[in-house]
Amino acid sequence: MTALKTRFGTDLLVVHCSASGPHVDVGVRDITRWHVQRGFTTVGYHYVIRRNGELETGRRENAIGAHATGHNARSIGICLVGGVDLNNKPANNFTDEQFTTLECLLRELKVRYPKARICGHRDLSPDKNSDGRITPNEYTKACPSFDINPWLKERFGPL
Ligand SMILES: [Zn+2]
Repeated sequence: MTALKTRFGTDLLVVHCSASGPHVDVGVRDITRWHVQRGFTTVGYHYVIRRNGELETGRRENAIGAHATGHNARSIGICLVGGVDLNNKPANNFTDEQFTTLECLLRELKVRYPKARICGHRDLSPDKNSDGRITPNEYTKACPSFDINPWLKERFGPL
């Protein structure tokens, strides 16, 4: 495998979804295959959380990922498996186990990268009207199919 470049800073922890259906039980191996087919060296994410809440590691944590255009050099990518319904429409259909694992992982990462901001992929969409907020009309994608901000507040308190 081509050597992955090491990241020199970590400002962002970006939460994604795999945009697969509620009954699609995939993990790092499958997503690696998808990403290699798209021309990546290997899986673009650092972590994948399966439907049953199992945490799998993708790229080594300090390698530059391939998950958020323009932000890869300074971020970690975490992918929740799921995120679309049976009609392929964005849906917050993640399991309780997945959210529990996500919380644990984010807590761990915040210890190692205390200054890193947690966001959903769609929150990195351009702020077209420059009001300092990324609102749904500005989303360039639905990923990760839920609003992470109220969830963070609920689990972590005010950040
Ligand atoms: Zn994404």
